[in-house]
Amino acid sequence: MLCFGTLVLKFFREMGKIFHVVSLKHLLLVSIALNVSLILRVINISEKKILHSNSAHVSKNIHLSSSPSSSSLTSFANARIEAQDGEERVINLDHGDPTMYEKYWQQEGDKTTIVIPGWQSLSYFSDVSNICWFLEPEFAKEVVRLHKVVGNAITENHHIVVGTGSTQLFQAALYALSPQDALEPISVVSAAPYYSSYPSITDCLKSGLYKWAGDAHSFKKEGPYIELVTSPNNPDGFVRQSVVNRSEGILVHDLAYYWPQYTSISFPADHDLMLFTVSKSTGHAGMRIGWAIVKDTEVAKKMTKYIELNTIGVSKDSQLRAAKVLKVVSNSCESSSSEGENFFEFSHNQLATRWELLRLAVQKSGQFSVPEFAPQFCTFLGRDFKPQPAFAWLKCEQEEVNDCESFLRSKKILTRSGKHFGFSPKYVRISMLDRDQNYNLFVERLSSIFSS
Ligand code: PMP
Repeated sequence: MLCFGTLVLKFFREMGKIFHVVSLKHLLLVSIALNVSLILRVINISEKKILHSNSAHVSKNIHLSSSPSSSSLTSFANARIEAQDGEERVINLDHGDPTMYEKYWQQEGDKTTIVIPGWQSLSYFSDVSNICWFLEPEFAKEVVRLHKVVGNAITENHHIVVGTGSTQLFQAALYALSPQDALEPISVVSAAPYYSSYPSITDCLKSGLYKWAGDAHSFKKEGPYIELVTSPNNPDGFVRQSVVNRSEGILVHDLAYYWPQYTSISFPADHDLMLFTVSKSTGHAGMRIGWAIVKDTEVAKKMTKYIELNTIGVSKDSQLRAAKVLKVVSNSCESSSSEGENFFEFSHNQLATRWELLRLAVQKSGQFSVPEFAPQFCTFLGRDFKPQPAFAWLKCEQEEVNDCESFLRSKKILTRSGKHFGFSPKYVRISMLDRDQNYNLFVERLSSIFSS
């Protein structure tokens, strides 16, 4: 740009020589003016580009019938301000990416920052005296502490096995619980609607040890079986117990959502094999850390063996980071602590607002329904509340709509069809854990869908 200015200056000098009219001072002023205008033009163009790429378009003139709480109104209003040129962008709520939690962790700043020097985490081993020899003692300590603080699981006299997410632990559990010398694979069942990944994970390697056998409600086969009990359930959020109830059943309790932001903690869970994950407790899905709480020593040994064969342990760096995150969460829960806002109170309130907005949108549209829940006393928060699950199990109530996923896709809302959960396609699962901007845009758009 300065070169351009110099050229302009030269040009005017020549002109000056020719016409002897314009002084050098004038020429300098003109040159500066040209440079400034050029700079402004460039800034203006790049600003337009940024605005264009960031702009999310919302449908206009849509109002919810009653007013949601004031904190939600601010971010809700932000979504409305985005109304640009009438074109709607696609809202993807198909996956359960827990980005809602970013807000809390940004607010907490450096509290969870750790530094890992280059000489650390070289060894495969973490604690050779433990059955789970790759379990970092600091992580195990914080798992035990958090369960005690929240009161959602018994850890005394249980083994902790760490995994690369609870997804790996689920597979380790299937491996450990299946009879090794059976004539046929053991049946794996879960009551529909069940977590959509269970069938595909169970059958992906066509194992000779275990096999997906579908909905537990209709499971009639004699003999041993493994039942997956997800409580609260993904996708519908209801608290669950086993449904098959036969003596030869082996239970795996997936308690990924048994945390007070989602559901009342009514007692410390004390099952034979319980699965937890940071993905849904603290929102750190990308850290890929889960843990199993296991009663039986042989089962804990076999699960450890599976992870040894599969990935020779679990990232130490992630375990150390997870330990720090759990520690900050526990500290935040201690009332005398100056460790910042209680993590569970904060995220509980975020979800309460979101469910409030969703129910208003469903009511305004009149085309959908979501489950109704009964309030229950929560020993952690010390009050009654209704479940506010991480997913909304939404039903398209219009008679002519049989495929709710396609219907919502036509409105540029991406969801997961009920058919993936062993259920009716009139239902879809919608993530409640996305960022405010996306979530608010979603409820606004949903509220504007009326009968055709
Ligand atoms: N179990 C359930 C019920 C889940 O919903 C999820 C995540 N969608 C998982 C397990 C997997 O968790 P992770 O990220 O720890 O593998």
